[in-house]
Amino acid sequence: MAEVKASNILITGANRGLGLEMVKQLSENSCPNQHVFATCRDPEGPRSEALRELAKKYPSVITIIRLDADDPCSIKESAKKVGALLGANGLNLLVNNAAILARGIIKTSQAEDMKNSFNTNVIGPLLIIQEYLPYLQTAAKASGTPGMSSNKAAIINISTLGGSMTKMPAMFSQFPVLPYCVSKAGFNMLTVLAAEEVKGDEILCMVLHPGWVKTDLGGKNATLEPKESVEGMLRVIGGLTEKEHGGFLDYTGATLPW
Ligand code: NDP
Repeated sequence: MAEVKASNILITGANRGLGLEMVKQLSENSCPNQHVFATCRDPEGPRSEALRELAKKYPSVITIIRLDADDPCSIKESAKKVGALLGANGLNLLVNNAAILARGIIKTSQAEDMKNSFNTNVIGPLLIIQEYLPYLQTAAKASGTPGMSSNKAAIINISTLGGSMTKMPAMFSQFPVLPYCVSKAGFNMLTVLAAEEVKGDEILCMVLHPGWVKTDLGGKNATLEPKESVEGMLRVIGGLTEKEHGGFLDYTGATLPW
């Protein structure tokens, strides 16, 4: 059961996997006046069919917007479109969920895979935060409440335990995905530095690990269904306060080591 009460929510990579499940659960449990900007890189394409169906079912909740994390113009364009629809309340919740996974170990990792992973998993989210920050600032000011929460203004970066310096070495033989892990470690640092920069605006910013989930990225041997992971993540997001600002939690709310 979703407990997120933010009015205006934007999710990247919303056409499949965890992003799609998040849009679904938010729509099924939506509060009055809640709106979800479900972004994906190809809204008209075959991979977005399930999202289009969902948007048909919940037309007053979901707006599909094109956003390709690899394309700075599309990020800017999306922010213009969303900005025009947001109104005076601004954007309360930005979920940077889109990512790619490239495999490799030191001996085999390709430069191209490293570049692509950084483009989608680090540079994309940086540009997205830059473009949407004014709307988050508007939401934080408009809320009129002190402190931090995901209902007021928050950036939630969906990263992974694979980006943890402490935990990943012991998991590397099971998950030989070096370009992904290195980019996600960068994404974790991006989050910590963004948290530092936006704390004066009372915008909450943190990293969330969804668990190992059965999606195209997680694979069929994963231990969790998307439903369980997203239920957990929404519960965690709904309960965040300034105590978790700049933190690294998993879908159960447990704190993880960097
Ligand atoms: P999926 O591969 O199922 O979905 C990835 C999503 O990201 C798709 O919607 C995809 O869209 C989108 N995406 C990829 N590249 C871009 C881009 N350039 N611009 C916009 N969207 C893009 O992955 P998950 O749902 O499993 O993963 C979601 C998040 O959770 C990721 O950040 C991942 O790192 C994290 N995570 C997942 C785990 C798991 O076990 N599943 C474990 C730990 C973390 P398209 O259809 O266009 O490719």
